[in-house]
Amino acid sequence: MPRFNRILLKLSGESLQGSQGYGIDTARLSQYAVQIKSIVDCGVEVAIVIGGGNIFRGLSGATRGFDRVKGDQMGMLATVINSLALASALAAQGQRARVMTAIGMEPIGELYIKDRAIEALNRGEVVICSCGTGSPYFTTDTGSSLRAIELEADAMLKGTRVDGIYTADPEKDPEAVKFDVITYDEIYNRNLRVMDLTATTMCKENGMPIYVFNMDVPGNLKKVIDGENIGTLVTT
Ligand code: UDP
Repeated sequence: MPRFNRILLKLSGESLQGSQGYGIDTARLSQYAVQIKSIVDCGVEVAIVIGGGNIFRGLSGATRGFDRVKGDQMGMLATVINSLALASALAAQGQRARVMTAIGMEPIGELYIKDRAIEALNRGEVVICSCGTGSPYFTTDTGSSLRAIELEADAMLKGTRVDGIYTADPEKDPEAVKFDVITYDEIYNRNLRVMDLTATTMCKENGMPIYVFNMDVPGNLKKVIDGENIGTLVTT
């Protein structure tokens, strides 16, 4: 039996760029699609939120003189580009997927409606929720917390390029120690930058567990679903 029946998988836009430094690495994309299909094949319902940092981030645009709201809208459009790319990669693996948008833009994707998303999940389709929350000043981490809670997922799985949450940044500090389990409060108290505070608070207030793991290692997503302790669980 899989550990979770329904998950919300958060993928960062940045990890989609692979080693290229910008845009979409098709090898990385199909590696993700293979991993996602493998868990749908086990009966897990999968909703996905993808970031847009490989293309555009509103905040960094604002520092370069862009209007913040326009920049955030550009960032949200970047998440749509990534979502379409992932839907296409899933289709190439024989996995049905649909892109929903928090902002109306048919026929690119259908407007996100909770009931429709759940019907699609029940049919074994992967639902990719694009545009984050649909509002500026938020991030796709907050968008994924929101969708995980709304879609009544058992957990939000945050696929990253590190294998969990550490006492310090493991890419900078060799002494950093990994947590198997950590509470939301410890994340605040230790000032760990796992997700932005809005996203963490939403998960805390609604009792949504977060599982942080390394999605860039093929097979890891399935291991998480099979109950192997390869990442960090954030809970109360
Ligand atoms: N964004 C937004 N509202 C949201 C989600 C995202 O305005 O609800 C914009 C914001 O500008 C953000 C960009 O979209 O910088 C890309 O999302 P994010 O930075 O979360 O992507 P990631 O870091 O996961 O690649």
